[in-house]
Amino acid sequence: MRKIQLLSPSAISKIAAGEVIERPASVVKELVENSIDSGADEINIIIKNAGITLIEVSDDGGGIDKEDLHLAITSHATSKITSDNINDIRFLGFRGEALASIVSSANVSIISKNSDSDLAWELDVNGKEEKEIRIFSCYREKKGTTVIVRDLFSLIPNKLRFLPSKNNEIATIIELINQFTLINNKIKFKLKIDDKIVINIHENTDISKRIEYVMGINFWNDALKIESHSKYLNISGYIINPTGCTNRGKIITFVNNRVVKDPKIYSSIKIAYNGLIEKKYTPSCVVFIETDSSNIDVNIHPHKTQVKFTNEILMKNDIINSIKNTLRRSSSSITLIENI
Ligand code: ADP
Ligand code: MG
Repeated sequence: MRKIQLLSPSAISKIAAGEVIERPASVVKELVENSIDSGADEINIIIKNAGITLIEVSDDGGGIDKEDLHLAITSHATSKITSDNINDIRFLGFRGEALASIVSSANVSIISKNSDSDLAWELDVNGKEEKEIRIFSCYREKKGTTVIVRDLFSLIPNKLRFLPSKNNEIATIIELINQFTLINNKIKFKLKIDDKIVINIHENTDISKRIEYVMGINFWNDALKIESHSKYLNISGYIINPTGCTNRGKIITFVNNRVVKDPKIYSSIKIAYNGLIEKKYTPSCVVFIETDSSNIDVNIHPHKTQVKFTNEILMKNDIINSIKNTLRRSSSSITLIENI
């Protein structure tokens, strides 16, 4: 072993970047979350070569001040929480790490115009060992921000070797944007992959159409509306009638408007279907869970897709009871319960 030594800032930022930016879909997630946090009504995403060659996310949100552009790409710099109150999380972002991680992994341009400014400003980061950062005025018609990420992982080539297949990456990106469309009913989303429009959801598309679009017509035809309120959780959404279950089921869950992939929530949903469906089946559902922000900790993992509940037993019971009650109320599932 060598002697202990401090790593260079560039090595530190590359190691940290790997935690947040695992794959192209993670970059898309972080950029779209920033656009949602900016108050955008419209978000356009362009992907080329499964995100390796290009990821471009544009919004018409509040924009970034020229003076803040430099800070936006600095680690642990955020406009979303303050040092005095790190638990007051009202936005999807709060770690101030995404843009810093992305500029450590790729060549990045950020073009932004806020409503107070006649000019748009562009920040270019040429992500070499010694980053070259340029800020200059440029033309942009409307307010908002565009982030362009080129040649992802050209600065951390090791990452390229461990990426999933391009088809897997594209499917993950489509799934991700689909999930965002479900919790952001007022936002218009367009996703273009290799010059083909893959998702085009208008602002006036209501939630039932969005769910049908994301989950498919078969789910929608067999879906039961779920709604329950307890002291701990408010639960709403759509769950599949047991008769419609297959082994290709899809569970999508949100906690306080955040996409959450939590094994404990998934297992509670499956438990509620125990005895009603074959063990190998997954019960499709889109479930929105709302709880007081003091009941959860979202700062569990850099990906922000897991949450910790203050009372996991209550969380599990509420989910199981809410689903069981819905299934019991639906006449077709009562038949099924009696048949078993
Ligand atoms: P976080 O979202 O956790 O704050 P990021 O690195 O993703 O960290 O972004 C840093 C800051 O840059 C944000 O806090 C925000 O102020 C600004 N920012 C990033 N993207 C946008 C955007 N699309 N519109 C407006 N501001 C943005
Ligand atoms: Mg962010």
